[in-house]
Amino acid sequence: MTLPIIRVGQGFDIHRFSDDPQRALVLGGVVFDGERGLHGHSDADAVAHAVTDALLGAAGLGDIGQHFPDTDARWAGADSLMLLRHAAGLVTDAGWMIGNVDCSVVCEQPKLAPRRDEMQQRLSMATGAPVTVKGRRAEGLGALGRNEGIACWAVAVILRQATQP
Ligand code: MG
Repeated sequence: MTLPIIRVGQGFDIHRFSDDPQRALVLGGVVFDGERGLHGHSDADAVAHAVTDALLGAAGLGDIGQHFPDTDARWAGADSLMLLRHAAGLVTDAGWMIGNVDCSVVCEQPKLAPRRDEMQQRLSMATGAPVTVKGRRAEGLGALGRNEGIACWAVAVILRQATQP
C-alpha cells in the first residue's frame, strides 16, 4: 500500500473595522447585518482570506496577495468566497485533494455562534471540503481585545496519491 502525500498549510489574516457605516461585515461569506464592516480592498472577509492562504500555502502555490493583488481594480469589493473558490481550484488542478480546513476567528464582536453553521457551509461549498469555524474572544488583550478588528487563523490539510514507482 502506498501512503498518500500529506501537506499542511497555515493562513492568517487580520482586518481593522472600517469607519464607513455603509460597509457590510462579511465573515466566511456570511453577511452580519447591523454590525460594523471591516476595512479592506475586497469585502475584507478575514476568514475566507485566511482559508485561502492556508490552502495556497499547503500546495506551495504562493499567497493570496500574489494571486489577487489589492492594487488590481478587478478585486475591488470582491466577493472573497469567489477568490477562495478560485484558489481551491488551483490546488485541485495541481493534483491535490483538500482534506479539511479548521479556523479560529478572534474577535470581541460579533457573536459568531449563531451564524457558525452558515459560515461552515459556505466555506465548505467554496472549497469542496469540510471547513470548521471556531470563535474566540481576545479577553480584552491588545487591539483585538479593544474591538479594533477581527483576525483569523486557518490550518488546511491537502493530500494526493504518491506516484507509483
Ligand atoms: Mg485580508
